[in-house]
Amino acid sequence: LRPKPMDLNTVVAEMETLLARLIGEQIDMALELDPAPCPLVADRSQLEQVVMNLAINARDAMDGRGKLRIATVANDEGHVRLSVTDTGTGMDAETQTKIFEPFFTTKEEGKGTGLGLSTVFGIVHQSGGRIAVDSRLERGTTFTIFLPRGGEAL
Ligand code: ADP
Ligand code: MG
Repeated sequence: LRPKPMDLNTVVAEMETLLARLIGEQIDMALELDPAPCPLVADRSQLEQVVMNLAINARDAMDGRGKLRIATVANDEGHVRLSVTDTGTGMDAETQTKIFEPFFTTKEEGKGTGLGLSTVFGIVHQSGGRIAVDSRLERGTTFTIFLPRGGEAL
């Protein structure tokens, strides 16, 4: 684990090609990065893992078609914020209470391990941040991550 000062916008922007390939051509992706810097201290590969896991889940929820929006906010009460929004299946209230548990999955055998969100939860909380979910059945889902702002990134 190598925490370093970095900018959330830079990390997300540099993942754009990878994310586009991951979600496929039928899903349109919009990056809405705050024009202001989003400094934080993080382990880069962990931060990438968070973004990847949320993007993969978003893709899986959309069954090949829809919109994925990844947005940043530079300063929300001392936190940098990342949100990942999809226009997928959404989740009912009961499902939402279980998604951060290790091995909870609604995917077919072999398609999901149920470890993505528990990993994300662990990384975010170990970093002193938090994660929120807002989801509506048949409408879609937004995951929002708050991480402590700081470190004066380059
Ligand atoms: P996995 O993707 O392997 O199933 P995760 O921990 O990443 O495991 O997610 C757990 C469960 O949370 C998924 O199986 C799914 O039911 C639900 N979920 C996660 N993200 C979304 C999303 N964006 N839209 C709808 N359901 C989701
Ligand atoms: Mg997953």
